[in-house]
Amino acid sequence: MGRPKRRQLGQNFLIDPQVIQRIAALTKLNPPRVLEIGPGRGALTGALLERFDRVLALEVDTGLIPSLEANFEGTALEIRSSDALKEPLDPLLAAEKPWQVAANLPYSVGTAILRRLLPRHDLVTRIVVMLQAEVVERLVAEPSGSGHGLLALERAAFADASVAFDVPPGAFRPQPKVHSIVAVIDLKPPEFSRNELKAAFHLASHGLNRARKTLPNALKPLVDLEQIERSGLDPGARPGTLELADWVRLGSDVAEAGNATE
Ligand code: SAM
Repeated sequence: MGRPKRRQLGQNFLIDPQVIQRIAALTKLNPPRVLEIGPGRGALTGALLERFDRVLALEVDTGLIPSLEANFEGTALEIRSSDALKEPLDPLLAAEKPWQVAANLPYSVGTAILRRLLPRHDLVTRIVVMLQAEVVERLVAEPSGSGHGLLALERAAFADASVAFDVPPGAFRPQPKVHSIVAVIDLKPPEFSRNELKAAFHLASHGLNRARKTLPNALKPLVDLEQIERSGLDPGARPGTLELADWVRLGSDVAEAGNATE
């Protein structure tokens, strides 16, 4: 298997020392260990090593690992050649939990990696992540706000998130085409059960794919008008205006109605 192309790996390396220090400073001192995803050439890694005695880094590009090892020899850095989309999290993190995560993630994998981490409050307390601005806007969006969709609902279920600061393309080499945003994500135990969330996300992903329609049309054929009214939702509302708790209630009501007719 050849090395994946650099462009696919989103290799825009940070070169602005102020941005690097500001990202590192958003990690807390406790828990005293951090997982870095995609250390690249180690720009952020060095700043993390100044704050933590335990830094574990996952890098998928094997070509970058020898120089990382050489540059950080004798430090507390442990580097693993690994794909953060696939690496099983429990064997990696459970023995020393909890962790913080710090990452400058490429667009190609950023959302998927975040989705893996969001439900893992048992392993991770805080994620400090830089992503393409548009992804962070979708992550922190509130109902009715622009960009509100499934990612925001997943975040609402598992975490509190806030925008820390914007990073212009000039902070990277090579420069990306888009602006980035650093976000702080604090994971929390979910208020709803796994089954409730599964049903809620199933309905929400169906409805939000038809976001311009009103609820009864957007949710066809999964939910009918009577059910929407019985769940106390406005049939004239659009899917993007519903909060997580609305989707959970609707999902539970639909499941209950299904059980009653079985
Ligand atoms: N942290 C460095 C910095 O800020 O300069 C590099 C950031 S660069 C945007 C993203 C890094 O993530 C690259 O080193 C890339 O090889 C790595 N990467 C991409 N996909 C990955 C994956 N699935 N698992 C682990 N690392 C990955």
